[in-house]
Amino acid sequence: MEYFLTEEQLMIKDLAKKIADEKIAPVAIEYDEEGKFPDDIVKILAESDLCGVYIPEDYGGLGGGILEMSLVVEELSRACGGISLAFAGTGLGTFPIILFGSDEQKRKYLPDIASGSKLAAFGLTEANAGSDAAGVQTTAVLDGNEYVLNGTKQWITNGGEADIYTVIACTNRLKGARGFSAFIVEKGTPGFSFGKKENKMGIRASVTRELVFDNCRIPKENLLSKEGMGFIVAM
Ligand SMILES: Cc1cc2nc3c(=O)[nH]c(=O)nc-3n(C[C@H](O)[C@H](O)[C@H](O)COP(=O)(O)OP(=O)(O)OC[C@H]3O[C@@H](n4cnc5c(N)ncnc54)[C@H](O)[C@@H]3O)c2cc1C
Repeated sequence: MEYFLTEEQLMIKDLAKKIADEKIAPVAIEYDEEGKFPDDIVKILAESDLCGVYIPEDYGGLGGGILEMSLVVEELSRACGGISLAFAGTGLGTFPIILFGSDEQKRKYLPDIASGSKLAAFGLTEANAGSDAAGVQTTAVLDGNEYVLNGTKQWITNGGEADIYTVIACTNRLKGARGFSAFIVEKGTPGFSFGKKENKMGIRASVTRELVFDNCRIPKENLLSKEGMGFIVAM
């Protein structure tokens, strides 16, 4: 078993550290105080290929995994936890696609995330579903070739800034947590809007916002894995 970082992992860590020291640290206070989303830093991360460190090579990434992602998050967070969350929140929204997506879903969504041209987000939490994730009340009802989503997610990192959302919703209330399913929802889908943006006490460069689904119709192909797998995807 290899206990130390590989040469490639060390390069990733060094590159993230350089960006943190030279590009993030000097502006961190400004972003935090103003609650400004770090679009320009995301661009720098994209240009340096860091957005794809945890995405398989077949889908445009560098082929690493959660360790490579953590190395980047750790370095960026030293300079600014909020700015780092744009990257980390994207990872949270992307891993369900990497782990449970079909080849078609991966081809459709992962290359843009790997290139940094699109961010992702993960929507699980609701007013009655925090630590007790089994309390999810957002529903997804199959209607012909579409699922119809209704409900509100809260405190979602990258809400409104991301283009691709992994969302957990209930498809069968009778089955409890085994009745949850995971879906990919694209920004701009009719019936999908963004609610309250939290005015936080810290990590203010990160956007934390509500996702509102009001009869939001998505193609049934956007189901991740199969119905009933939502809780497993989330965990
Ligand atoms: C900045 C920020 C970003 C976030 N980003 C996302 C995101 O991108 N996607 C997403 O889905 N969610 C996100 N969340 C939500 C986050 O995952 C939830 O806040 C978390 O799951 C806890 O839920 P809660 O806040 O409702 O706290 P609660 O579940 O109400 O817990 C409150 C307190 O009670 C304690 N507690 C709870 N249950 C028990 C128990 N059974 N026994 C003992 N103690 C208990 C907890 O430890 C905690 O201290 C974000 C939250 C924040 C603050």
